[in-house]
Amino acid sequence: MAQLATQTTCPYCGVGCGVLAAPQADGTVAIKGDPAHPANFGRLCSKGSALGETVGLDNRLLYPQVDGKRVDWDTALDHVSDRFKQIIDEHGPDAVAFYVSGQILTEDYYMANKLMKGFIGSGNIETNSRLCMSSAVAAHKRAFGSDTVPCSYEDLEQTDLLVIIGSNTAWCHPVLFQRITQAKLNRPNMKVVVIDPRKTATCDIADLHLPLRPGADAFLFNGLLSYLKQHDCIDWHYLEQYVEGFASSLDSASKTAANIPQVARQTELSEADVAKFYQLFASTEKTITLFSQGVNQSTSGTDKCNAIINCHLATGRIGKAGMGPFSITGQPNAMGGREVGGLSNQLAAHMEIDKPEHHDRLSRFWNTERLTNTAGLKTIDMFQAIERGDIKAVWIVATNPVVSIPDADQIKRALKQCELVIVSEIEKQTDCTEFADVLLPALGWGEKDGTVTNSERRISHQRAFLPAPGEAKADWWMLKEVGKRMGFAEQFEFETAVDVFREHARLSAFENHGERDFDISALADITEQEYASLQPIQWPITDNAPQGTARMFADNHFYTASGKARMIAVDPHYPQNEVDDEYPLVLNTGRIRDQWHTMTRTGRAPRLNAHISEPMIDMHPVDAGHWQIQNKALAQVESKWGRLTGRVNLTQDQRPGSIFVPIHWNGQFASQARVDTLVAPLTDPISGQPESKHTPVNVRPF
Ligand code: SF4
Repeated sequence: MAQLATQTTCPYCGVGCGVLAAPQADGTVAIKGDPAHPANFGRLCSKGSALGETVGLDNRLLYPQVDGKRVDWDTALDHVSDRFKQIIDEHGPDAVAFYVSGQILTEDYYMANKLMKGFIGSGNIETNSRLCMSSAVAAHKRAFGSDTVPCSYEDLEQTDLLVIIGSNTAWCHPVLFQRITQAKLNRPNMKVVVIDPRKTATCDIADLHLPLRPGADAFLFNGLLSYLKQHDCIDWHYLEQYVEGFASSLDSASKTAANIPQVARQTELSEADVAKFYQLFASTEKTITLFSQGVNQSTSGTDKCNAIINCHLATGRIGKAGMGPFSITGQPNAMGGREVGGLSNQLAAHMEIDKPEHHDRLSRFWNTERLTNTAGLKTIDMFQAIERGDIKAVWIVATNPVVSIPDADQIKRALKQCELVIVSEIEKQTDCTEFADVLLPALGWGEKDGTVTNSERRISHQRAFLPAPGEAKADWWMLKEVGKRMGFAEQFEFETAVDVFREHARLSAFENHGERDFDISALADITEQEYASLQPIQWPITDNAPQGTARMFADNHFYTASGKARMIAVDPHYPQNEVDDEYPLVLNTGRIRDQWHTMTRTGRAPRLNAHISEPMIDMHPVDAGHWQIQNKALAQVESKWGRLTGRVNLTQDQRPGSIFVPIHWNGQFASQARVDTLVAPLTDPISGQPESKHTPVNVRPF
């Protein structure tokens, strides 16, 4: 007999849609959008709708293994903690590392951070969110003094001008795109500008598409700031009261992007298009700039984000309905990871690793003398340190770095020679598990229970509705068991996910007198029953805002020392690696509509594979003619770092001079198609985010 539907959330993108899941008598799961969830109001995209087809136990990792042999949990956990202790005793705490994921739940994330930073005493914990939105995090902190996303999804429906930059929202955040499309139908005067080198499906609703030169975003927005000043569109009252840094930012903008002809040359856009965009922005008060990986994944990603934020601060377009800079995250719980300090340079509850008062506060809260005060290595540096042998043990949780990190073959080399590789996974066989000394079976979507935070700061409960398969356990449970075995039993005494969530909520409130944005103090004493029935709610959630907070900075208070927002002087740069005779084309990477990350889940659903069934190389016909490449023929793409084989798809939507290849195909599906083997391991010096949108390559017939 079919069970009643469980209210849960989709495990894929950062929209964070609510899902109703009902296991059926025949073993399948019926899936519907949750009409009560404020992210999607019942809508689902193709990936979310197919969730029921992805829950089978084929290739599931069902029991712990050490050195290829099945063992019980005690043996596996003793082995992990003994080896960790031995390596730390011999080489110090920085000889071990965790690499976790925006796919795990906040409770898992909290435990991983507590163990690594608080008790092992190293900053060496990274999340794959580094690859996705760390430039936005760094820019938020520079501008607002905190990693705060100011807007809500409803702002996207209320705005009069939506500028979408570096995001194929139609494919990567489809339900949000459906909401935007509906809003535009309801309010035909709403304008949409899409800024993207490619003409993507998102352009279907664009009033203006700007196919700018790849990487030229900051020139465009510096030019916009110059234009706003020249056309008397600055909100001087707002600037005077609430913002600092205008003069130096304007000075930089004026020096680097002074006028429309100059910006048109820098961005390779027509002067008419640049002028049209600037006029629209200048004349429309209710403006949102929605940005994502196309901006973030750059060696100057942080500056690009700040160039965008600058224009909103200069016009006072933030903290009000339908206005603001809006960074949208790729993963379902990238935001939850940020809340608990998932990046190597953060502490939990939006505290800073290099602030002595934060260090002191967290040390007392966790009752530890081992809390690190030093940032750990960022993702690219971390795996290079593993290859050098400086890091001797790594625990990889719910992610597939052999496929997803730039210079992916370097990750293989690193893991191959690493002394101890622990992988907690739902899959028995991935590109990563073959390097594991210890395999720990994790609960997957539908089996695990905890919380996630979507792109609009909304915390939702992701609930279990399926039994745990085999001996699989929650990631937070494994981590706390290792913490106890390493000698920290008292501080890792958690029985349930709600115990973890409660401590997380209490920490957000601990000695927080309004100087930290992340505050969910109203949930600090949440009972098991209240947690079980927790409805989606946006942080901050405090006694003053028990129903949550839709919009930040409405009071014009920022979390900097002065309480004012900061405009940042931006000196725009093109991508670090330029094309040359040997590698004359730019490789751009990204998502396709019906697959998720490295396809370990979506690859199971036949209807999702039907959309685009094999690795493709999107290419402009002019380039194809130049290099004698035929449509639908196989071709080889090569960079300084690696090569890939795929089928060419000729399209006028591709900007001449650049190709696009999806990120998804893993070595299990297509041995020659891991696109990150080609991508340069170059990073933004501030955020550490890799430049995944701009690698010089050549293409040849295969
Ligand atoms: Fe919603 Fe994203 Fe899931 Fe699609 S993939 S259903 S848009 S959360």
